[in-house]
This record gives sequence, structure tokens and C-alpha cells, in this order.
Amino acid sequence: MSQPTQPGDGTGGERVSVHQPVLRAEALAALDPRPGQVVVDGTVGAAGHASMVLGAIAPGGTLIGIDRDAAVLEHARRTLEAAASEAGGGVRFRLFHASYSRMAEVLQQEGVSRCDRVLLDLGVSSFQLDTAARGFSFQHDGPLDMRMDPSDPARPTAAQWLARAREAEIARVLWELGEERYARRIARAIVAARAKAPLVRTGQLADLVARCVPRARHARLHPATRTFQAIRIHVNDELGELRAGLAAAEQLLAAGGRLVVISFHSLEDRIVKDFLRRGFDLPFRKPITASAEEIARNPRARSAKLRAGIKRGAAA
Ligand code: SAH
Repeated sequence: MSQPTQPGDGTGGERVSVHQPVLRAEALAALDPRPGQVVVDGTVGAAGHASMVLGAIAPGGTLIGIDRDAAVLEHARRTLEAAASEAGGGVRFRLFHASYSRMAEVLQQEGVSRCDRVLLDLGVSSFQLDTAARGFSFQHDGPLDMRMDPSDPARPTAAQWLARAREAEIARVLWELGEERYARRIARAIVAARAKAPLVRTGQLADLVARCVPRARHARLHPATRTFQAIRIHVNDELGELRAGLAAAEQLLAAGGRLVVISFHSLEDRIVKDFLRRGFDLPFRKPITASAEEIARNPRARSAKLRAGIKRGAAA
């Protein structure tokens, strides 16, 4: 169940990089938050987006920030405290360690039954990627974990999944979630390798994948990029979370309320696009993408797509 976070339960000291929010100004314009509104940021992260929202909903607004990763919430708290005092007070924020798919329960816990705005900025943060111990990155050797919420005992780590999954399942995940054209070859190599020694480090997996993919293909992306992405999406059931989160947002939004989603994967974008077409008016048809300048500054913006919907129905 979701928990309001206590000050001091983060792990601030070990972080090595600052997360740059993607499509910051565009997200704020699409969300169009107004003074006094209740806004849910379901992927609050380091509060890059949320801190701007906080300024826009003063006076009288409430921001509810949710993240599946308890370790980032301490950063969010500090950033939001500064933003709240800059806004001259008169705004509240509350942070919850939970999945955004459970935002209805989080709001209920706060005694709130309706909200005006919902923002989802999907994927991983730089904090997660750059913390080797979390196992998200092929660039930093660490345990092959990849769970966004390592406190969830029900969810296997990437290493546990790779140890047990059948070859065909691994190939399917790499193909469907990573669009990895060498999915079968990589799956076969994983099964052969694990018969000799368990795959437990990100470095082991990155090397194995690099050996499966022809050199010429390495040009722009690291050869393990797609494999790591696919395993991460699978281990965290990110597409299931997205479907459930969109449905929850639709239930909670008041008529005229806005839903804004930034996705980083074509399957996510498809889900968002199809969902918004039912039940929402679209302020713009084509997704908003990052400028060349933003991509140069922040490579994570490369695949970002922002979509927005305005919930139909008579305003209350
Ligand atoms: N907008 C944030 C960055 C978000 S990065 C900022 O400006 O700082 C994506 C965040 O979403 C990560 O912190 C990740 O832990 C979180 N996340 C991913 N899936 C989630 C889910 N299903 N529920 C809640 N949080 C999730």
C-alpha cells in the first residue's frame, strides 16, 4: 500500500547526476495548471516537472507526487519545498511511494476524489540509470536488478527472470519490447551462458549481447541498449502499469481536466494515442517531440513523445 514518505528516507548521497526533465516547457503548456487546482504527478521523480507545476497552482493548489522508487522521493521533497517557498506559500504537496496505477487509492488516502490534471513522464530517471547498484545500466557494472521498486517482494529482479524464463519467452520479450532484431540469437546465448554460470551482473549481460550483435550495428547505440530496455519494461510490467494508470487517471479527472503523458517507446506511445482518442478531446493531433537543441543537451529526449487529452463531459 502507498505510504506518505518520511523525511530522511532517501539515499541522496550516492547520486551522481541531475535528472533533466524532458519537454519541460511543452509539458507545462500542455498541462496548463491553474491556481487552486489538484494536480497528480504520477512519476514525480526528482520533481523537475512537478516544481514548475507547484508554482502554477499557487495559491491554494495541491500537488500529489507519486513514484514507485522510494529513493527519488527525498530529492523530490527538497526540490518541492524550495519551489513551494518560492511560490510564496499557499500551495501544498504530498509525496507517496506507490505505483501510479494505484493513484485512486493514493488520492483516497488524501481524502481527494477528483483531480484537475494528471502528468505521467514514463521510463527511468537519470538517478536510476546512473546508480550502478540499481542494475539499470549497461554502462555501469552492477547487480542485474532493474526493479523500479526494490522493496516489492513480489517482483523478480532481471537476474531472477533471466535465470528462469524459457528461451522463447526471452526472445519474445527482446523482440516485442526492445524491437531487437537479434532477439533469438541473444536469447539463445543467454540460455547457453546461464547453463554454465548464472547471469548476475549488468556487465556480463552487456558483454554477452555485444558478442551477439554484428559490429557494424554498433554505430549509434550501445548494442545492449534494446535488450536492457526490453528487460526493464518486462521486469516492471511497464505497459501494464501504463494501461492501468491511464484508466485510473480517466476515472479521477474532472470534466475538462487534462491528462499529459510523455513516453519514450513506440508501444507506450501507441497505447497513449489509442487511449486518448476515446474519451478525450485532443488539443493537438501529432505528438510533441523535443527540439534538436534539447536532444543535443539531453540525449534522453531523443525518443520522447508528448500527448495530451482534455476529458470530455460537462464541467461540474
Ligand atoms: N518527471 C520527473 C522524472 C521522471 S523519470 C522529473 O522531472 O524529475 C520517471 C520516474 O517514473 C522514475 O522516477 C520512476 O521511478 C517512475 N516510475 C516509473 N514507472 C512508475 C510507476 N508505474 N509508478 C510510479 N512511478 C513510476
